[in-house]
Amino acid sequence: MSAETLSTFPMGGIHPREAKELTKKISTEVMPPPSKIRLFLKQHVGAPCKPLVKKKDEVSEGDVVASVEKMGANLHSGVTGKVKSIANALHPMVGNARAVVIAADPEAEPRSYSPIDWTQLSREEMLAKIKDAGVVGLGGAGFPAGFKLDVRPDVKLDTLILNGAECEPYLTSDNRVMVEYPKDIVEGAKIMLKILGINYCAIGIENNKPDAIEALNRAIADTPKNGYRIVVKPLKVKYPQGSADQIMQAVTGRARPSGVRSSVIGIILQNVYTTKAIYDAVALGKPLYERIVTITGKGIKRPANVMVKVGTSIAEIVDYLGGTTPDLAKAIVGGPMMGFAVSTLDIPITKTTSGVLFLTKDEIDTKPHLPCVSCGFCVDVCPMGLEPNNVSVYVEAGRGDDTEEFGVDDCFLCGSCAYVCPAKRPLVQFMMMAKNDLREAQKK
Ligand code: SF4
Repeated sequence: MSAETLSTFPMGGIHPREAKELTKKISTEVMPPPSKIRLFLKQHVGAPCKPLVKKKDEVSEGDVVASVEKMGANLHSGVTGKVKSIANALHPMVGNARAVVIAADPEAEPRSYSPIDWTQLSREEMLAKIKDAGVVGLGGAGFPAGFKLDVRPDVKLDTLILNGAECEPYLTSDNRVMVEYPKDIVEGAKIMLKILGINYCAIGIENNKPDAIEALNRAIADTPKNGYRIVVKPLKVKYPQGSADQIMQAVTGRARPSGVRSSVIGIILQNVYTTKAIYDAVALGKPLYERIVTITGKGIKRPANVMVKVGTSIAEIVDYLGGTTPDLAKAIVGGPMMGFAVSTLDIPITKTTSGVLFLTKDEIDTKPHLPCVSCGFCVDVCPMGLEPNNVSVYVEAGRGDDTEEFGVDDCFLCGSCAYVCPAKRPLVQFMMMAKNDLREAQKK
């Protein structure tokens, strides 16, 4: 089975198109502030934050509550209220993790922001605002945006790509951002172009989002050009396409050599939602403390796109949407291909949570996994040409197999291999274990 076939194949009993339709056209609604938020001290690539507050401190919406001196991203409170504790909380991926817990004042007025003329700001001033605002890659990677944009002057760039592919079934939060905030995205693109000192930006959007393509084309036509060339590139619908390598190839035809950054081939890549967050940080002075999350699947009573404060418990969002259905079988934080199944809903949303899926039995595959039948489907489908069922060779060889162009480092956990495997082997978990083993081996 090829990657091409996978793009049109039903996922877990529900067709990808049908899965997106559950929420694609539903406008974002703003959930009232939750009773409390729990902010993990590390929800980004880099060093964890250190708390700047202590128990019983009063905080206002937008206040910095934890910061980091090295590469990382500051944390801000999305609510006005009182610090209850700094304690462990259940994390969807790493078990327990330290978090600042803040009880919200239900009577507090929401904070408002007004735009400034950002064109008067210098590159350094804009970078400082993005770093201060704690902006990270919202497509899932969590890389601090201010550090990604702080490229050395000797690196030759020519293209900024905005990733609006959102290829995972079910997820529609990026789609809603593009439809509802196209002008902010175009302004965010201009801010980044000014920081990077280049003038070309291509926005890659899959063809199944015609409303987003239209909204962004209109916003581009309506904005003064100022010497910048910003274009929308409609892309074929396929999975995976949202990873850095796939979208760079789809938009520019350029391939990144293994083990180097995209800037080596002249490209900086940013997610469309991150671009809006960059506009908020620079033009509005608004930190990243809330985000749109797709809450969907046949197992939730009211599927929706909801603007929630970072740190809101999934359980509170579920209550707000009227609860789950009696036939709920599985909850997944993230998309169906790259997300993580969770056993409790008492887990907070992080900056990188794009969706939570509530799936019924007919949306999931419950068959137990079996021994490998050596069919080779996983190798055929892997966009990096890896052998997911034979990961030990990569770990033993160091960074990668010496006969292969790509190594286990290049696996971006798209889940295509696990999806096509007829024996239903947990191949993504194998890849994750191999990545860990490799990291340990490299430390020695
Ligand atoms: S090995 Fe990694 S990149 Fe390749 S198909 Fe599996 S998850 Fe995707």
